[in-house]
Amino acid sequence: MSRFEPNLRIPGPTALPPSVREAGGRQMINHRGPEFAALIGRIQAGMKPYFGTAGDVAILTCAGTGGLEAAVVNTLSPGDRVLGISIGAFGDRFAQIAEAYGARVERMTAEWGWAAAPDEVRERLAAGGGDYRAVLLTHNETSTGVMNPLSQLAAAIRAAAPDALILVDTVSSLGAVPFEMDAWGCDVVVTGSQKAWMAAPGLAMVAASDRGWAAMEAATMPRFYLDLRRHRDLLGKGETPWTPAVAVAFQVDEGLRLMAEETPAGIFARHEICAAATQAGLEALGFRLFADPAHRSRTVTAAWIPEGLDWKAFNGELKRRDLILAGGQGKLAGKVFRVGHLGMVRLDEILAAIGTIEEVLAEQGRLPSAGVGVAAAERAAIGLEQGRQSAGAAAAGAGATAAGGAR
Ligand SMILES: *Cc1c(COP(=O)(O)O)cnc(C)c1O
Repeated sequence: MSRFEPNLRIPGPTALPPSVREAGGRQMINHRGPEFAALIGRIQAGMKPYFGTAGDVAILTCAGTGGLEAAVVNTLSPGDRVLGISIGAFGDRFAQIAEAYGARVERMTAEWGWAAAPDEVRERLAAGGGDYRAVLLTHNETSTGVMNPLSQLAAAIRAAAPDALILVDTVSSLGAVPFEMDAWGCDVVVTGSQKAWMAAPGLAMVAASDRGWAAMEAATMPRFYLDLRRHRDLLGKGETPWTPAVAVAFQVDEGLRLMAEETPAGIFARHEICAAATQAGLEALGFRLFADPAHRSRTVTAAWIPEGLDWKAFNGELKRRDLILAGGQGKLAGKVFRVGHLGMVRLDEILAAIGTIEEVLAEQGRLPSAGVGVAAAERAAIGLEQGRQSAGAAAAGAGATAAGGAR
């Protein structure tokens, strides 16, 4: 974070690394030429490990919501029975899209702040006779700061409704936390350039399983711009059916290069550390976190606005100090605030954010005791780092023993 730029701690669009910003300023190229074909090939190949898929990844020019709409209209038909599992505003949105196109959506909602429970999902599907065409899921619910136990939920769905397609919104998680689309049996998975991918908004990446692609042949919901078959047919040529957001593609390409340098393991660890620091820091400052502690998100944290705190004035003070947080969404507007910690985020930016919040609390005479927030955030981060190091040392020790035994 430069001294001259705000600490943009919203859950997307996320801040751009300098080289990603520069990539977006490059001269245009022919989107039907070899340079673009190579670019789209690199993006595809670079994305697949984060999806955990060997299948194709379509690159659409639209917001993340357009990617969700693509998942729905390409695989479903009007009248299809769909279970929309919602744990917040984005789960509601996914269900609304399916409804808008005529699916018969049954909603299963968790109280906001909680994850979906695999056992309850299994029971619900079994009670419903199991003949669902699809189940809609949100991996990371950005409105509540809750991360669903996706592998367990997918397993529960596979067990109770083996033929149901599993469509997953991973817009605010993919690229920041592990995901195994193929191994978990997910059929369509959607993400967006402006979240963990450290690029500007404008591209949605959509991957589908063999079953997902097969479903697209039978589906009858109307589609044209978002027709994924048109995308897949041109992927081999390294093109997209319509003019893509070339500048954003340049950025995603550079973002993926930076991510490869850091390695997925490094990226996932960094997000885990930044999440733990944010959450420990806010709690030490007296904020009550919104999410069930067992399912706290690693990319965004929501906290209750304490009784008696004038959020508008408080947030004004934060902004004056160049800290930009997000407010509550939907029915949480005015009730919670959210801190984004995904994409290009470093521990020092989190410590700075906690420090800024601490400063304003102190000014208002609301600080439990000086320095507690930043200290707690640092402790949480150091605890995780030390845990990782001793686990690494133990693994290395075990490796040495095994090698010794072999000798
Ligand atoms: C940001 C987000 C979206 C939507 O992205 P847009 O690009 O604003 O359409 C969808 N789902 C989740 C979970 C998100 O965080």
